[in-house]
Amino acid sequence: RDLATGPSTPNWWVLVGDMGTGKTSIVLRLVKGQFYTNLESTIGAAFFTQILSLSEATVKFDIWDTAGQERYHSLAPMYYRGAAAAVVVYDISNKDTFTRAQKWVQELEKQENLNLVMALVGNKSDLESHREVAAEEGDQFAQQHGMIFVETSAKTTLNINDLFYQIAKRLATVS
Ligand code: GDP
Ligand code: MG
Repeated sequence: RDLATGPSTPNWWVLVGDMGTGKTSIVLRLVKGQFYTNLESTIGAAFFTQILSLSEATVKFDIWDTAGQERYHSLAPMYYRGAAAAVVVYDISNKDTFTRAQKWVQELEKQENLNLVMALVGNKSDLESHREVAAEEGDQFAQQHGMIFVETSAKTTLNINDLFYQIAKRLATVS
C-alpha cells in the first residue's frame, strides 16, 4: 500500500494517541505476538493486516499505526476519515497522555462518521505502582462517549486480544 496516499481498503482501523503510549507495541503484540523492548519510533504511519475469527464471522482489517501527530497536533484526516474503528491510546502511568487522549476523542467526534467504532485504551497496566490514571476515570470517560474501554499491557499481553475482539464484535453489530 502506498503510505503517501493512505488507507484504501474498505475496512481499516486506526490507532492514535501520544508518542510513547505503546501504540506500536500494541499492534506488534497483536499481529506478531511479541513485545520488543527496543522499538524505533514509527515514522508517519505503518499498516498491518490482521484477521480475527469470531463465531459470527471472520473479520479482516488493516490497522494503521500512526505517529508524528504529537508534533503537528493533528493526524492527516485521510487516516481516520472513513475508518471503521479508531483506537485512542493513553499510558496509565502518565496523566498528560490521558488528557490528550480526551482531545483525540473530541477531534474524532467532529468527523461526520457516525458508524465509527471508538475504543479508549489505557495501556501499560503492568505499571501499577506508577499509575496516574484510575481505571474508573478512563471507564467513565469512555462510557460518556459510547466507547469501548480496556486497560491493556502490550508487555504482558493483558487484554490485547480482547480489545480487538470487542471492536470486531461491535463492528459486526453496527454494520
Ligand atoms: P508509540 O510511540 O505509542 O508507538 O509507543 P511504543 O510502542 O513505541 O512504546 C513506547 C515505549 O513504551 C517502549 O519503550 C515500549 O517498550 C514501552 N511500552 C509499550 N507498551 C508497554 C506496556 O504495556 N508496558 C510497559 N511497561 N511498557 C510498554
Ligand atoms: Mg509508534
